[in-house]
Amino acid sequence: MRKDHTINVMNFRCPDCGQEFPAATRQWRCPCGGVLELSERSRFERDRIETKISTLWRYRAMLPPVKTENIVSLGEGWTPLVPAQAYGIEFLAKLEFLAPTGSFKDRGTTVLVSLLKELGVREVVEDSSGNAAASLAAYCARAQIQCRIFVPASASPAKLKQIRAYGAELIPVEGPRENASQAAQHAAQVSYYASHVYSPLILEGTKTIAYEIWEQLDGHAPDAMLFPTGHGTLLLGAYYGFRDLLEAQLIDRMPALYAVQSEACAPLYRIYIENLAELPDIPQGETVAEGIRIRRPVRWKAIMRAIRETGGRVVTVNESEILSAQRDLARQGLYVELTSAVAVAGLKALPHGGERLVVPLTGSGLKAPF
Ligand SMILES: *Cc1c(COP(=O)(O)O)cnc(C)c1O
Ligand SMILES: [Zn+2]
Repeated sequence: MRKDHTINVMNFRCPDCGQEFPAATRQWRCPCGGVLELSERSRFERDRIETKISTLWRYRAMLPPVKTENIVSLGEGWTPLVPAQAYGIEFLAKLEFLAPTGSFKDRGTTVLVSLLKELGVREVVEDSSGNAAASLAAYCARAQIQCRIFVPASASPAKLKQIRAYGAELIPVEGPRENASQAAQHAAQVSYYASHVYSPLILEGTKTIAYEIWEQLDGHAPDAMLFPTGHGTLLLGAYYGFRDLLEAQLIDRMPALYAVQSEACAPLYRIYIENLAELPDIPQGETVAEGIRIRRPVRWKAIMRAIRETGGRVVTVNESEILSAQRDLARQGLYVELTSAVAVAGLKALPHGGERLVVPLTGSGLKAPF
């Protein structure tokens, strides 16, 4: 049974100018350039967790409203938390790579695609050469929504195979990564832009990682969390999730959120270190951490706010540190993709002493064997 404060009508809102849009909008960004958020988010209520459900839909009461028959789920979320170590530091690894398509992206996708089904959307477009596209392609296959992905012509063939296997249409775009985004945004004039970067529904899915960790730690928040950070959708989701728990007075302080970037492509680090008021124009840089090779994180302001407010930091790691972190994890039985190893490599930068640390291992090593 629904209580009064359940959100029945969901709107999107531009934080920059205040304009509101119905959730059914095809507008993926405010005309003023702002990145949309939900105008109202549901509150966390412990009593409404459906504890018999072993997917993130156990938090359905806290997720955007969808009819049961429109939920598109492949068993995502509720991932294990297992002890591991690096640089002599003990931490808890959250095994996000066990997700249905092999990365945490499924958390956001299950919420987004369920809403699209609820809204009767029949076809979507997206641009990505990697895990976001594979995830979207899988959930669209499940929902029988047609899916077209614009990919850089230079994208790695391994990940493209997974995307194509789900039946998505792949459209190669010549030139730099941004050209694929522009092509998708152009196609979005007549289709739906199911963007992991722009859709605020993605963060409603990724926030569940915080709820899960809180349950798994017997009603506590960790002291700190580290994320391999590109567009920051997992870091921001965790921030929202823990803030929900704080507002419900179920934790008494926020975990410090650390963004870890590859030295070769670290716009957030530049902002952090130089205290910049604008996104710097940096070269793309070459890195083995392909999943976070992002020059222009669109929610950079929100990411920086979350990091500063929680007492976290932005740190960078170099290529050899990423490679050795991946190897060290594998020697503990945890085979992750190089992008995921970035967060673990970042542990060396932490002030530490008996703190409870959680690191999500975001993607499977089987995605791009190295
Ligand atoms: C997408 C992705 C990331 C980065 O996530 P952002 O939301 O862009 O910060 C990290 N690791 C893996 C495996 C990914 O697929
Ligand atoms: Zn606006």
